[in-house]
Amino acid sequence: MRPDHALTIIGGGLAGALLATLLARRGWSVDVFERRGDPRVEGYAGGRSINLALAERGLHALRLAGADGAVLRQAVMMRGRYVHPLQGTPGLQRYGRDDSEVIWSINRGELNLVLLTIAESHGARLHFDHALERVDFDAHSASFRHHAEAVSHPFRALIGADGAGSTLRAEMAKVRPLGERTDWLDHGYKELEIPPAADGGFRIEPNALHIWPRGHYMCIALPNDERTFTVTLFLPHRGAHPSFETVQTGDDALALFREQFPDALPLIPQLRCDYETNPVGHLGTLRLDRWHLDDRAVLLGDAAHAMVPFHGQGMNCAFEDCVALADHLQRAPTLGEAFAAFEAERKPNAAAIQQMALENYIEMRDRVDDADYLLQRALELALQDRHPGRFVPHYAMVTFMRIPYALALHRSEVQRGLLQAATRGIATLAQVDWAALDAAVEAQLPPLDAVA
Ligand code: FAD
Repeated sequence: MRPDHALTIIGGGLAGALLATLLARRGWSVDVFERRGDPRVEGYAGGRSINLALAERGLHALRLAGADGAVLRQAVMMRGRYVHPLQGTPGLQRYGRDDSEVIWSINRGELNLVLLTIAESHGARLHFDHALERVDFDAHSASFRHHAEAVSHPFRALIGADGAGSTLRAEMAKVRPLGERTDWLDHGYKELEIPPAADGGFRIEPNALHIWPRGHYMCIALPNDERTFTVTLFLPHRGAHPSFETVQTGDDALALFREQFPDALPLIPQLRCDYETNPVGHLGTLRLDRWHLDDRAVLLGDAAHAMVPFHGQGMNCAFEDCVALADHLQRAPTLGEAFAAFEAERKPNAAAIQQMALENYIEMRDRVDDADYLLQRALELALQDRHPGRFVPHYAMVTFMRIPYALALHRSEVQRGLLQAATRGIATLAQVDWAALDAAVEAQLPPLDAVA
């Protein structure tokens, strides 16, 4: 093995564990240093069941790592959004055309455990209870806190998969500023739980992502394979009711749910207690000008580009990063060239999904039950049938395809313009000027397989 065929990954979370597998399978010598203890021995730190939506980009990466079977066995299929309006009838809005276009709800802890086990089976060395503290890049030595002790390890190059609060990022910035800035969202979140029904089954439709859109805030619920749902309430941190400033106690939360989420209230028997126990989470968008330090370190996943969770793509994007970095490492003659090529490829795409994730919050909390939104959505599906491979709905490009995020963003903007213009002043699809719209689609949207 060449001496530069050794890599040290900081963080054995979702991206770190997956990357370790992809690299170890290609013959790299891989060490992973993870701050927490081994979840296979100690249980997954965090306790509560937290789930994530897995889509095609993430699933593709799992297939390359040979992890898709084990992960999907524990996943729950979500066919679409199940929208619960305050007034009116709740119902399913499908994400795709059929069950080949779905997303999957997976448990974060179980996923991490599966990935760590597979990484180890391919020869990656996992060092738990090792929190990176400092890096001497000149001496190629990294210092960790291991229980109460400080320990050092030599490295050839470091890969930062240590999440949004990355220590490696902070250490790299001491050598060369990375141009870091974080835009904090003025909304936060709190997690609650819907337990199984008395007969052990799901209390509401299991194969859907439930949304209670309420204008400037919302609640969502994703199913878990143990028949529970993880509910996430998103509210502004401050300001007019309801905000986390005005909804502080369990009783305040009960009153809010009684008023605004009356069909969800009976599903969450521990609402008062969950609300008082669980912390308010903060959400932000992290942007960097540089992701790597010559041939000595590179960042990926949340460490490089944390985003708000409203497109359900943070992990999917992090997994796509892992595939891209492994490919560049395979192809490029030196580590420095691989890191630079990885950054050049992924940075514009991360910026695109960060923007789309911010935009999707408005769509989820405010638009999904609007008549004009529903008309545009119906038109989107009709255009998909009339122009296959040319007009692909925004959600499908991001979720069911692997075209670059930047291309998905560009085409979504063109398509949004067409949809808005075609539905202005009309109430049904029968009133659409199809000839003009078909001509505009042909003129403005080249076939995707010609540009992707
Ligand atoms: P992490 O998963 O944060 O892993 C970082 C790892 O590094 C951890 O194991 C940590 O212990 C370790 N670490 C940290 N510091 C050190 C250190 N100093 N030394 C050693 N180890 C260290 N994404 C989706 O794709 N779909 C979703 O539905 C979705 N929903 C979300 C909902 C919410 C509320 C939030 C907040 C995020 C959501 N995301 C979702 C985003 C997703 O959670 C992240 O993008 C993903 O976890 C990033 O993976 P990562 O490996 O880069 O970072």
